[in-house]
Parts: sequence; structure tokens; C-alpha cells
Amino acid sequence: MSELRWHPLRREWVITATHRMERTFLPPPSQCPLCPSKGGEKTEIPRETFDIVVFENRFPSLFPFPPSPSVSSPFYKLKSSRGLCEVVVYTPEHTGSLTTQSLERIYKLLLVWQDRFAELSKLPYIRYVLIFENKGKEVGVTLHHPHGQIYAFPFIPPVIQNELRSFGEHRRKTKGCLMCDIGEREKEEGRVIIESPLHLAFVPFFARWPYEVFIMPKPHLSGLDEYNEEALMDLAYILKAVLLKYDNLFSFSLPYMMLMHQRPAKDKSGLFHYHIEFYPPYRSRDKLKFLASVESGAGNFINDSHPEDKAKELRELPPFSIEEVE
Ligand SMILES: [Zn+2]
Ligand SMILES: [Zn+2]
Ligand SMILES: [Zn+2]
Repeated sequence: MSELRWHPLRREWVITATHRMERTFLPPPSQCPLCPSKGGEKTEIPRETFDIVVFENRFPSLFPFPPSPSVSSPFYKLKSSRGLCEVVVYTPEHTGSLTTQSLERIYKLLLVWQDRFAELSKLPYIRYVLIFENKGKEVGVTLHHPHGQIYAFPFIPPVIQNELRSFGEHRRKTKGCLMCDIGEREKEEGRVIIESPLHLAFVPFFARWPYEVFIMPKPHLSGLDEYNEEALMDLAYILKAVLLKYDNLFSFSLPYMMLMHQRPAKDKSGLFHYHIEFYPPYRSRDKLKFLASVESGAGNFINDSHPEDKAKELRELPPFSIEEVE
């Protein structure tokens, strides 16, 4: 059963998706559903090999043709969970991660993300396309094969709504762009960890996770669809550079949540400034940060480190410049 239930106190949608309990949980590599189909063994991808594959999630939270809600209420607001959930398989190779992919493959993946963003944005019932990756069992990953996901929502998620409101307010007050201004401050105040001709990567002043990193384009671009070939290649370089730094941090493949924040599907105002946010759950080599009472119940993160120190730590790890990335 699946539906959207409105949380009247928090003013946000909760997605119920009870069928997701039956998901394949960390299968052995020989039974990986994201590997190519070989010798009679059928996986999710009926091909002997492939480059990058996108398909609809078999255990989605949102459906293009959703079932009717399982309950009704004269008091509570609920509606059917219309939307789309896609899986993006980065490579036919079972082992590795986004970090270990070649620059050429990361560039191709950016083209795929760009294409999915544009296509899903066109659907009349879609208001927001969220491209993301959960990496590592620490953030609930059920399949190790390198892959990411896309959720196409019938509403604008609350985090994005807040960001839009902030962009709008800043524009009215200063005529400028909040993200463009943030980029300048981060550079000025020394929290940049690596820079490319067209992008900045930094641990923001307001980081909530110890090793949180933002990647933003220096030109004001609202979404991946506004990227040209040169900007996309530049993004491939800085993305790989940040991922390599992450893996060099504790000498293991660092788990993270990666979110692409871009303009809402139908928003052509140019107000939004595209960026990628990374939240690794580790606060040190052997300690995880949990979303405990204050984070979950009050909405305030407690970061037990200074973003300036974490920025320095990441800056002083290889690669030191994007010229070293290959
Ligand atoms: Zn696999
Ligand atoms: Zn901007
Ligand atoms: Zn954001």
C-alpha cells in the first residue's frame, strides 16, 4: 500500500510505502539485480552488458499510476502517491563506487542525469525532480552495485521550498543571488577545499554534518539542463576530486548521501542556483553521527566540529588540484 499522508503539524507529506519491506536486502554479488543478465540468470537488466542504465524502481515510493489510498479520513488530508522513482546504474561492473569511475563515465552519467531531469520535469504531474545517491550500508543502502536514484515528486519537497524562499528573499533585499554570494564568502573566509575553473567545493559556514561538502557552479545556473559541454566536463572533474578526497579521509570508501538541488520542474524564473550537497554520516574514522532527538524532534543539528577545521582537513588531502584528477 502506498499513499501520501499530510503531516498537519510539520506541514509536509509523509510517503507510506509498505511494499518496500520486501526489497532485496544486500544480496551476494552472484544474485545482484543490478548486474547484467548472463547465461540464463535474469537480473533487472535483460542485457549481456550495458553502459549506464536507468529503469523504474521495482519497489517505488511513488507511482505513475498509483493505487488508491488504503484508508480515508474526514479529518486528515491524504492523496495517492503519484510520481516516479528511477534507479540509475552507473556501470555494469559490480564492484567500485562513483569515485572509482573514469572521468569519461562520470561525464556520461552527468549527461544521463541532465536528460532524466529534463524528461521527468516535462511530465504534467511532476513538480520536482530529485537526483540523489545513498552510498553505504550506514545510510541504508540495500544493494552495493554502484547506483543512484531519482525521485520525481508531485510536490516541491520542504527543503527545496525553504531554499526557494531564501533565494527570493535575498534577491528582493540585495538584487543578488544568495548562492553566488555564499560562494564568494566561502572563498574569502577559507572554507573552499578545491576549485576548478567553473566550480567551487567547500565545507559551508553552516555545515550540519562534520564533513558536509557543497559543490556549486561559479556561473549562475539553475539546473543541470543549463549546463553546456564545458561546464559538464568541469563538474565531472570537481565531483571526482571531492569523492577522491572523501575516500582518502579515513582510507576507506566513505559512505554519504548526495543530493542535487536544482530548480523545481516548472520553474523558469532563474532564481534557483544549482548545487550538490554531500552528507557523510561519519564524524571520525570509527564514529557515526546519528540523527538523534534534537536533530529529529527539534530540527537543529549539533555539529561537534568547526567547518573551518574540517575544510582544512579535506583541503590537505589529495587531490590538491583538479589537474591531478584523471
Ligand atoms: Zn551487481
Ligand atoms: Zn547564483
Ligand atoms: Zn541545497
